[in-house]
Amino acid sequence: MMKIISEVVFANWYHAFIAMFLFFNFIYWVFSFLAKVIFNYFETKNKVAKVDNHFLYPGQQKKEILQSIRSIFIFSLQAIVLQQGIVRGWFHIQTDMNWWVVLQISVLFLWNEIHFYLCHTLLHTKFMMRNFHHVHHHSKEPTVFSTFSFHWIEAFLLGTVVFFPLMLYPFQLLAILSLPIMSLLINLLGHCNYDLFSQYHSSHILKFSYRHSMHHKGGKGNLGFLLPWLDQFFKTTAKQDK
Ligand SMILES: [Zn+2]
Ligand SMILES: [Zn+2]
Repeated sequence: MMKIISEVVFANWYHAFIAMFLFFNFIYWVFSFLAKVIFNYFETKNKVAKVDNHFLYPGQQKKEILQSIRSIFIFSLQAIVLQQGIVRGWFHIQTDMNWWVVLQISVLFLWNEIHFYLCHTLLHTKFMMRNFHHVHHHSKEPTVFSTFSFHWIEAFLLGTVVFFPLMLYPFQLLAILSLPIMSLLINLLGHCNYDLFSQYHSSHILKFSYRHSMHHKGGKGNLGFLLPWLDQFFKTTAKQDK
């Protein structure tokens, strides 16, 4: 199965581009709409409450969607680099499937946390913020459509996450495909603006949705993705969350 997918997708540069464009659009639209419907349902039943961060501006979601499609376009261009790298032997992938995939997904999860923290720290330098990262922060109150709402430079930077592991180790294709899915799901929860675990302190591992809403509200601090530990270690936890 994975062998066939790999043969078709990596056959040439435009197959890679088209496959990635369809794949990212599929996960973006399906997961975002599902999240919207599910959260609305639970909100009307009073099971979840919004974070105290209410700054939606007119036309925000439309703008976020357009910017997200532009980011998906950038990710799809990066798939051409991936395809070329595989053909030329810079990157290695494995197409057989076995239980090692679970460990590989865990490694990619941890790598994604580190890569995001590094990129996000860089994006919060004065120069990067003024020129690029302000696009993402235009959404002071994030929505489920904010997930890929970036300047194209930021999309490029975040999209490099996949390259480094493949230079070091031939990960299974299934593990590689799980990375954008896992990342989008965490991203969706991080931007939904709901406090899903209101009973816990903001430093709790499950409070990442709340922490990222606070990152958008305050504009600084809480640079991590899901885990709170890098922020705690490097003392970048948002002030209101201490
Ligand atoms: Zn930021
Ligand atoms: Zn964000």
